[in-house]
Amino acid sequence: MGQGGRMPAATPEKIPDMLNLLNLNQTAVVEGPEQYRVHVTANYMSNPECVCPLPKVVKNGTKEVLFMDTPMHGKKVGILVARQRFLCQGCRSTLYPDVPYMHEKHQMTNRLVAYIQRYGTERTFSAIANEIGITSQTVSDIWNAYAREQLAKLAPVTPEWLGIGADDAPANDILEKAIERDVGSFEDDQPAEGREILRVHFRLP
Ligand SMILES: [Zn+2]
Repeated sequence: MGQGGRMPAATPEKIPDMLNLLNLNQTAVVEGPEQYRVHVTANYMSNPECVCPLPKVVKNGTKEVLFMDTPMHGKKVGILVARQRFLCQGCRSTLYPDVPYMHEKHQMTNRLVAYIQRYGTERTFSAIANEIGITSQTVSDIWNAYAREQLAKLAPVTPEWLGIGADDAPANDILEKAIERDVGSFEDDQPAEGREILRVHFRLP
């Protein structure tokens, strides 16, 4: 109790960990009207190795790299990683260890890739892109690669047509076209096993 029986106003000295990712250590959070920037350092599983004949790998400063993450509190989230840089004194090449939780190909968390895969069936790519803060081309690439992967499990040969550049079309349309081509139309009376699997998989109506 404070003076006069009133509770003192809360004065948090430290912003609680926002990311809930064990091996990223939050050092600062900058909140803007539309976005959070969470600054972190990372715990690495191992140091990078060099494949040259005379490897001698030493620490060589850090480099800030931005990875996008799933939105939070209605705001975009960017994770700024102070990424450890290494130098091989044998061949003078610069090496970086993998940052935990980050996708190997895209500048984003694995959970953001999963988010795009999940919501790509329900919303347009540009709506998702605006929410996250990346280009709709990237959303489209990620979702199409995912859909192609799922279809490949159903059909031995997956045609190239899935890569149609319907950037702004609801992803459902693309999938429907995919299903029509590969496993028959939705209106088809004959149930196709593959279509049902896809429908369930992508939670289509
Ligand atoms: Zn080397």
